[in-house]
Amino acid sequence: MGVYMEQLLMALDQGTTSSRCILFNKQGEIVSVAQKEFTQYYPQAGWVEHDPMEIWSTQMGVAREAMEQIGAGYEDIAALGITNQRETTILWDKNTGDPIYPAIVWQCRRTADVCEKLEIQGYRDMIFRKTGLKIDAYFSATKIQWILNHVDGARAKAKNRDILFGTVDTWLIWKLTKGAVHATDYTNAARTMLYNIEERCWDEEILELLDIPKEILPDVHDSSYIYGDTDASIFGGPIPIAGVAGDQQASLFGQTCFARGDVKNTYGTGGFLLMNVGDRPVYSDQGLLTTIAWGIDGKLTYALEGSVFVAGAAVQWLRDEMGLIRTAAESEEIAMSVPDTNGVYMVPAFVGLGAPYWDPYARGIITGLTRGANRNHIVRAVLEALAFQTYDVVDLMEREAGLDLLPSLRVDGGASANQFLMQFQADVLQTKILRPKCIETTALGAAYLAGLSVGYYQSRKEIAGNWKIEHIFEPSISARSRDEKIEGWRHAVAQAMKE
Ligand code: ADP
Repeated sequence: MGVYMEQLLMALDQGTTSSRCILFNKQGEIVSVAQKEFTQYYPQAGWVEHDPMEIWSTQMGVAREAMEQIGAGYEDIAALGITNQRETTILWDKNTGDPIYPAIVWQCRRTADVCEKLEIQGYRDMIFRKTGLKIDAYFSATKIQWILNHVDGARAKAKNRDILFGTVDTWLIWKLTKGAVHATDYTNAARTMLYNIEERCWDEEILELLDIPKEILPDVHDSSYIYGDTDASIFGGPIPIAGVAGDQQASLFGQTCFARGDVKNTYGTGGFLLMNVGDRPVYSDQGLLTTIAWGIDGKLTYALEGSVFVAGAAVQWLRDEMGLIRTAAESEEIAMSVPDTNGVYMVPAFVGLGAPYWDPYARGIITGLTRGANRNHIVRAVLEALAFQTYDVVDLMEREAGLDLLPSLRVDGGASANQFLMQFQADVLQTKILRPKCIETTALGAAYLAGLSVGYYQSRKEIAGNWKIEHIFEPSISARSRDEKIEGWRHAVAQAMKE
């Protein structure tokens, strides 16, 4: 035992724009944090890449920094959990450890045409049935295919078993174990568009269709599982790598959404709503994705996932493009300075509309302007739009999952700090909004998964006891008044879709 009476948990949170490390105590409180942004590469319009070596070096840098800040050694860390940007694809040479191409990031659209072809060729149902996903360039499958097709000699090397594929978790595990472990967890596997989420295997038919050799794929394990020890050279001694999950699933776990029907919404740049649907997958024919929430003790829990493309990004737009606010936080005070939007609605369909509308050609719109409409009304209308978009996804999810009205919604992400937005969300959902004390739920989820597999926690029940409410927002308007607001929103959406 080192300087601490009680050991800590380490979460490596490898996100799209930064690498972070958080050390948590047993109560799930933050003891130390370090964060470092890394380079985004945009080699062509619509392409996004990262340098896998920079991902690794920033992640190691922040891990050591978080430990140094509090003078912790490896012996003070009971276990390490990894959570990561999902779908991002890395292929590397297993003999040299060098990536054979930059990481192709989830946002990268370079394989959109390949996906369109697969749709036209009629593979949509087969792929949806097996993976729970829509055919899309976001997912790893067509990114892997692209690298194999475009890097000289890659296919031959892959056949020789000299190349390995991994999502970011797999890359970090491989580096942390100095090449001893090539593995991923169910949640990350489920985002490759190659994994059969019911049969729990890499799907031969899809692999053949995309000409991807099975030999390059990692082993798949539970999200709460001891993957191996970090090589002693990294932290001065071994730390067990004991939990792994993609960021949104980790946040569902960190919010302790352990029961069927539990839902969390993350208000970040975009919005991600995930519902725990229990031990059987639920499929949506309205564009929600079906995914694995986690695997624990050999048992899978599934989730339905609905994404809103533009959430906090609309607030950034108010600040950076429109100059209507100076800071994101200021939007709260401005929205509250008026009693309503004066009939103004804003639909932030900057990149089309997702569930339940699915119109890639819809564009942003501000409606209902009269001579009395001012800046405050427009700012308020943007925040209200974030809540309406969440309402649309929740409404669809309730119908698709066959569940009664949501009893409550757990929230996190940058914009969940906004009191006005949270109150308005409670009003339009007619549901309690529960904002926890710790909104670093992604890192916390990874730490919990790790803590569970090494026996630091005995059960999910014990972990659930850590979840503390910071604020409850109760609905404060009548259902009728809510319905009127929603009718206005639907009308505005219809106009955005006509544009
Ligand atoms: P990400 O993880 O996607 O980078 P974060 O969870 O850090 O996102 O949230 C950042 C987003 O939240 C930004 O788009 C920002 O505009 C928005 N945001 C941050 N604070 C507030 C606030 N007080 N009110 C409204 N939006 C906010």
